[in-house]
Amino acid sequence: MIDEFTRRSRIAYFSMEIALRPEIHTYAGGLGILAGDTVRSCADLELPVVFVTLVSRMGYLRQEIDAGGRQVEHPDPWEPDRWARRLGAKVAVVIEGRDVWIQPWLYRHRGSLGYEIPVLLLDTVLDENAPEDRDICASLYGGDDAYRLSQEIVLGIGGYRLLRSLGFDIETYHMNEGHSALLAMELLHGHRRPNGGPADHAGFDPEMARQQCVFTTHTPVEAGHDRFPYDLVMRKLDGTLDIPALKALSGPDCLNMTRLALNLSGYVNGVAKRHAEISRRLFPGYRVHAITNGVHVETWTCDSFARLYQDHFPQWRHEPEALMLADGLDDGEVWKAHRQAKLAFLDRIAAETGTRLAPDVLTLGFGRRMTGYKRLDLLFSDLDRLRTLARGQPFQVVVSGKAHPRDEGGKRIIEAIHRCRDALGGDVPVVFLPNYDMDLARSLVSGPDVWLNTPLPPLEASGTSGMKAALNGVLNLGVLDGWWIEACIDGTTGWAIGDADLGTAGDDAEDLYRKLEADVLPLFYGDRPRWIWMMKQSISKIASQFNSQRMMRRYASEAYLR
Ligand SMILES: *Cc1c(COP(=O)(O)O)cnc(C)c1O
Repeated sequence: MIDEFTRRSRIAYFSMEIALRPEIHTYAGGLGILAGDTVRSCADLELPVVFVTLVSRMGYLRQEIDAGGRQVEHPDPWEPDRWARRLGAKVAVVIEGRDVWIQPWLYRHRGSLGYEIPVLLLDTVLDENAPEDRDICASLYGGDDAYRLSQEIVLGIGGYRLLRSLGFDIETYHMNEGHSALLAMELLHGHRRPNGGPADHAGFDPEMARQQCVFTTHTPVEAGHDRFPYDLVMRKLDGTLDIPALKALSGPDCLNMTRLALNLSGYVNGVAKRHAEISRRLFPGYRVHAITNGVHVETWTCDSFARLYQDHFPQWRHEPEALMLADGLDDGEVWKAHRQAKLAFLDRIAAETGTRLAPDVLTLGFGRRMTGYKRLDLLFSDLDRLRTLARGQPFQVVVSGKAHPRDEGGKRIIEAIHRCRDALGGDVPVVFLPNYDMDLARSLVSGPDVWLNTPLPPLEASGTSGMKAALNGVLNLGVLDGWWIEACIDGTTGWAIGDADLGTAGDDAEDLYRKLEADVLPLFYGDRPRWIWMMKQSISKIASQFNSQRMMRRYASEAYLR
């Protein structure tokens, strides 16, 4: 069952989360969506990659909103045996002096051209494990530091050993974020020279790991980089890893997973040009390349636009460059496709919330992880201003997003949005759709007229939801940060809020209101042909470029083939 994959796979891609399909709850947000789009593009391009992640049986979180507008969190279990098959192989890692046995599930992703990509989902629910070790792979980003470190040991060290024991012959290990960096340490153990070397640590030669490892860093936000105190590391890993060597490679004060990955990778990249620049400043002394993220066009294009593209550019799914010619599409057909997506979206909103939004009113969409730097509250910072704006030129807002269970600031934002919704009443209709996930995202990025993005620069590493919106003819109105710096031609592919120059701290809220008032709303209500022209510019310039096919061709040629 696995043999065909062990024979051909040459690259192993490790990620704490991967969004494979809506029913498989092994993802939380953007990082997992990107990993999933990577799987899908590897299948389209027939790249010899095997993916490794945790089975996350209890998922990340299912979100409900209570009557007070507060997030209520539930486990979000899924059924591995419905979608994947258990493999017989087992490996053990010693954690806290106990053997922890790991057995994988195999999920086969089949691309629409028939090529299959293997995904190994690591599981520790096994009779031979101590009860406290059985749920290590249960809750994605759940628990405390000790729990997280156990997960990262299973992912990095366990995942590496499993590939070896299954007979994979891997040339390149790609670490999607630092969570899996212990794999590089384990790789070094494998390459340890028997008598030790002159200038290194007991025979460890980091250069060996660097030849094989690729590291993609995803966030300039401090909390995004895992750090573990060494007393915890000692407790978990003494006897499993060489702790002095680990300290030499990952920092003297704590185990910094980003630093470990940086020190053991021969190719390091950020996920947009600006993010690579920021990462170079954050980690001086390392060469950080830039490969801007992309999205999988077949996955994120809604049905009505997929039909339109299929009619005019039959190869668009596997050659998204073909969408470059979308600027020549017929206006009426483009508007009809958008109208269908919008009506389907408004129907869904009515079914889920009981609120029926008006189809002819400009609709702003916003779907994001609810956390401080994403600044959803920017739009709601002056409610009187919003009311005044909407009096002449009405608009409505649809919002969705989860807060991490320990992100109190993020949860307060969700409450604040609900208070604003109630305060605005019918003046500016606001709808919050609970439980933002892959399935909801597909409607949310295709149904509105405008996609809003207001992060605090430079903290949005890339962002991908705006790329999904562009595929569906939804115009971006966004702060110049991450990918949008590369894609925004103000007044053509969408609109810019603020300035790309980090030195000039402007008033982003004021700028957002001004853009809405002077550009976005008048164009929507006053010049429909020009609006449709912008939709077509946005599709042709963005979809042809910011897709995961282009992204994976670049990883293949620049990071994997070094
Ligand atoms: C695309 C997507 C994200 C990432 O969006 P950003 O723009 O990077 O914040 C997160 N969650 C879901 C469900 C998505 O579909």
